Amino acid sequence: MSIVLYAEFAEGKFKKVALELASYAKKIAESLGTTVTAVTINAGDVSELSKYGVDKVLQVTNDKLAGFTAKAYADVIKQAAEKENAQLVLLSSTTDSMYLSGLVALALNAGFASNVTGLPVSIAPFQVKRTAFSNKAFTITEISTPIKVLGLAKNSYGIFENASTLTQEAFNPSLADADFGVKVTGIEKASGKVSIADADIVVSAGRGLKSPDNWGMIEELASVLGAATACSKPVSDLGWRPHGEHVGQTGKPVATNLYIAIGISGAIQHIAGINSSKIKVVINSDPEAPFFKVADYGVVGDAFEIVPELIQKLKAF
Ligand code: FAD
Repeated sequence: MSIVLYAEFAEGKFKKVALELASYAKKIAESLGTTVTAVTINAGDVSELSKYGVDKVLQVTNDKLAGFTAKAYADVIKQAAEKENAQLVLLSSTTDSMYLSGLVALALNAGFASNVTGLPVSIAPFQVKRTAFSNKAFTITEISTPIKVLGLAKNSYGIFENASTLTQEAFNPSLADADFGVKVTGIEKASGKVSIADADIVVSAGRGLKSPDNWGMIEELASVLGAATACSKPVSDLGWRPHGEHVGQTGKPVATNLYIAIGISGAIQHIAGINSSKIKVVINSDPEAPFFKVADYGVVGDAFEIVPELIQKLKAF
């Protein structure tokens, strides 16, 4: 019996969610007295995984898997889980992994819980805590099937070093033509900047900025911090910013380490999408703005004075 996880690899390195998943898997493995096996698809150097407690890597190298192909990837993970006699199969909550998780669970006849936010609440019965109702509540979900598939919510556990001796094994699962019915054939990046999904810090701005011409300082602050830029819904509806930057209940979810909201009122639909972020900083001229109720740090003041000053201070730091 082992724990199998899918370690996502892109642009020459493991995604941060893969390292978080490895840290998470190791912690569970230690309490169960079992091992952690990672399955990788067309990854380069996999040795980094040993830093985070992975004991074994099943390395799949196959040109047919060069583009994301949900059914084929799910088949690879299923066969890896069967080979390792896994009872726990772990994926992250990226768009690709969310897509895969259901397919993997179906293929393994396993119970599945998505958006899991921490270590299992109990092992027998097997219960996990997961977010619900747009992050406004948590549910305790029990999985009673022998094999369990979990999708770990981003930034919900953290990345911890825990060195292991890594065994690497080439793995050649059998793939059917039917696995390749739908395939991603190319990726067009919306911009060369940090993407919201990968960002540790997100600098987000709202209608309080008054005009699209005022986004220079937001871009600059994001650049100084190595952050992604985001915006409220009306801002993207007005065409001030691209739709890809709209965050909230109907936009992209944000679960980052630091979320800075500038000139955003804090409507429930906005908060619902960003509430999983660890630290929320709000800059707003209205001390009654609802956002202050959920903020960890708040600055009451004019964004047009505070943001340039903040940039200067950070540059001098
Ligand atoms: P406003 O509400 O206009 O707030 C602007 C803020 O800027 C105010 O708090 C003001 O005090 C402040 N301000 C003004 N001038 C300054 C200054 N100089 N310096 C600092 N602060 C200043 N919204 C989302 O964002 N995401 C969603 O996913 C989303 N989904 C929705 C789904 C539904 C079904 C509905 C009905 C609404 C949804 N909304 C969503 C819209 C949401 O209800 C709010 O209308 C929206 O979030 C408000 O955007 P805002 O805070 O940018 O603008």
